[in-house]
Amino acid sequence: MRAYLSMGTNKGDRNDNLEKTLRYLDSVPEIDIISISSIYETEPWGMIEQQLFLNIVILIDTVLDPESLLHACQQIENRIGRQRLVHWGPREIDIDILLYDNLTIQTENLTIPHPFMEKREFVLAPLREIAPELILPSGRSVIATKGEGKVKKTLFK
Ligand code: ATP
Ligand code: CA
Ligand code: CA
Repeated sequence: MRAYLSMGTNKGDRNDNLEKTLRYLDSVPEIDIISISSIYETEPWGMIEQQLFLNIVILIDTVLDPESLLHACQQIENRIGRQRLVHWGPREIDIDILLYDNLTIQTENLTIPHPFMEKREFVLAPLREIAPELILPSGRSVIATKGEGKVKKTLFK
């Protein structure tokens, strides 16, 4: 199954947090990383009095079901040291499942497609880069959809 994941970090060594997250994900036998966007520096969402984020989007191939994939992502978040202090507050790493195949899921733990993905430019910009042909859940193409918030592509891949 194909899934798109979004990751963001704005606490500690941000580049190192992304690198570790990718390394840990890649070391899960049930997860293969297929593509990785450039790194984007982005304005915080919600609570704005905090550091800029680094965000990426990746495409993975996985045999994990959505709940197990969420669990694997949360284990990595914990391993990298994320403490759940403030919702939308600073964090070492946040991993969200944007899309999982063409599934729609609405449970207590999991909403897929991710409800805000089409509003957030920090999701859409890296997604456009790795999946320019993608049609979003709304039916619009990712290329033609612009989200909110400032994002700047960095020189780092
Ligand atoms: P946002 O959803 O606005 O991006 P957030 O990522 O800061 O907010 P978290 O505190 O990381 O929110 O997660 C809260 C809960 O969201 C998680 O415990 C998880 O169960 C749930 N959740 C629901 N849908 C998803 C999804 N598609 N991907 C990841 N987590 C999800
Ligand atoms: Ca999030
Ligand atoms: Ca999250």
